[in-house]
Amino acid sequence: MIVLKFGGASVVTPQSFHRVAKIVQKRKEAGEPVVVVVSAMANATDELLELAQEVHPNPPRREQDMLVSVGERISISLLAMALDRLGVEAVSFTGSQSGIITNEDHSEAKIIDVRPHRLSATLKAGAVAIVAGFQGVSRAGEITTLGRGGSDTSAVALAAALDAPCVDFYKDVEGIYDRDPKQGTAQLLPQLEYTQAKEIAKGGAKVLHLRSIELAEKNGIQLAVRSFHRPETIGTLVGPRRTSFSGRVYE
Ligand code: ASP
Ligand code: MG
Repeated sequence: MIVLKFGGASVVTPQSFHRVAKIVQKRKEAGEPVVVVVSAMANATDELLELAQEVHPNPPRREQDMLVSVGERISISLLAMALDRLGVEAVSFTGSQSGIITNEDHSEAKIIDVRPHRLSATLKAGAVAIVAGFQGVSRAGEITTLGRGGSDTSAVALAAALDAPCVDFYKDVEGIYDRDPKQGTAQLLPQLEYTQAKEIAKGGAKVLHLRSIELAEKNGIQLAVRSFHRPETIGTLVGPRRTSFSGRVYE
């Protein structure tokens, strides 16, 4: 089982979806079932939040979630289309359709369970399952979102539910660095323990969301950070390979 996560920086233009689709196709050719979690395109989430602000200075959080969850729906459907053009069978799913169950805390929801029946059926049929990150559904059937940057956590929670040993994050950087790679000489860190990766995330590095590292640690899931410009190499590997497993945890 392979879980891939593509962030907003990897889906900036319509052409980006072709590049992502080619990476997914390549991973699919290895023969394992593939789940792809995608974020909203570049600034789509910010733009949707600004749009809400233009209508209401303090929008009801339920309605804001209904609005911002659209960003990821745009990405999943376009990626499914790009894969179809390559002849790769793929089906897109919202967080709700993927069985990502959260509490009722709109805009900061916590995942309380994952029931990925539809994903499992899709994978069993040999298709790629594409999942909208950042969103879920409450037990009452309300659309929720997980907080900014939450799609990293969606990917790790799905890996936990589907027994995937690793999540591959495709980024616009090669991996995790000892300091901001956009400012001066930074060293790429090939291997990190969860604790080290958490410290780097707490220090403000945007490369992996802290909550997703914590969740990976609880479930013993490895995190591979790599560049979508050079998808063949892993830049940074976080966490020891799973040795023991004492049950799934979602937050
Ligand atoms: N699209 C959401 C955000 O911009 C979630 C994510 O990208 O992880 O915060
Ligand atoms: Mg992100």
